[in-house]
Amino acid sequence: MSVSSSPASAPSPRTSVRVADRGVYDRAAIDAILDEALICHVGFVADGQPFVMPTIHARIDDRLYVHGAAATRMLRVMRSGAPVCVTATLLDGLVMARSAFHHSMNYRSAVVLGTAVEVTDAEEKLAVFRAIVEHVAPGRWADCRRPSSKEFARTRVLSLPISEASAKVRSGPPVDDEDDYALGVWAGEIPLRLTALPPIDDPALPAGIPPPPYAVRYERDPRPSESGAPARAVIDCGAARPA
Ligand SMILES: Cc1cc2nc3c(=O)[nH]c(=O)nc-3n(C[C@H](O)[C@H](O)[C@H](O)COP(=O)(O)OP(=O)(O)OC[C@H]3O[C@@H](n4cnc5c(N)ncnc54)[C@H](O)[C@@H]3O)c2cc1C
Repeated sequence: MSVSSSPASAPSPRTSVRVADRGVYDRAAIDAILDEALICHVGFVADGQPFVMPTIHARIDDRLYVHGAAATRMLRVMRSGAPVCVTATLLDGLVMARSAFHHSMNYRSAVVLGTAVEVTDAEEKLAVFRAIVEHVAPGRWADCRRPSSKEFARTRVLSLPISEASAKVRSGPPVDDEDDYALGVWAGEIPLRLTALPPIDDPALPAGIPPPPYAVRYERDPRPSESGAPARAVIDCGAARPA
């Protein structure tokens, strides 16, 4: 899937990316980043103190979900209707320029602003548990025990609309000052990707239970697109610019 540069405009002035050709407001591109990122960071203010907490998330259609113990500060604050900022970041490469100034990183990141509501409907809550497990490892939900009623009650789920959101993307080689291209120093990109190592059995695992395929060949593979092609968005943001 190829998502062209900024087919839509920012949904609000505060989500408008300053470096305009890096801003992407297309929902498919934003969703692809949220789906590929294993975790996000939730920013909120509690008693005047900003916090930014790492947490697992999952997306179902137009909503982003987080979960945790009911006592968790983040979930208590979100439940109160306080504004939050959720950020997901995928680091694709290190960009080595000829000058220190033009070094950069290739990345895809998404920022979602809004207020959350608690999910109390049992069916939706179960769907979120499933989505979170499947977000981490597609295929795992079918293999694991479902949450008990006690576990169900102890876990709080919050839901945020993906309506005020933006993505920012950098890709490609460094962009140096014209005079610096003659310097005899290596320049280019060191691509990065998240790679799983071979799974390690739980020492308590009885003999004869082999790791499932999603553990043996774990990849942060994006979901297939409708065309069957990988859904990892090739987001063309025009000329590379400073981050
Ligand atoms: C990869 C990852 C995934 C996670 N997924 C989830 C999830 O899905 N749901 C969930 O509820 N929690 C998750 N956590 C844990 C989460 O970051 C919080 O630690 C947790 O929610 C407890 O919150 P609390 O309000 O009870 O923290 P408290 O322990 O009450 O916070 C008190 C203070 O402890 C410190 N603290 C708390 N958490 C962290 C932290 N993670 N790192 C460093 N210092 C910390 C901070 O200074 C904080 O102000 C995840 C953490 C990581 C790193």
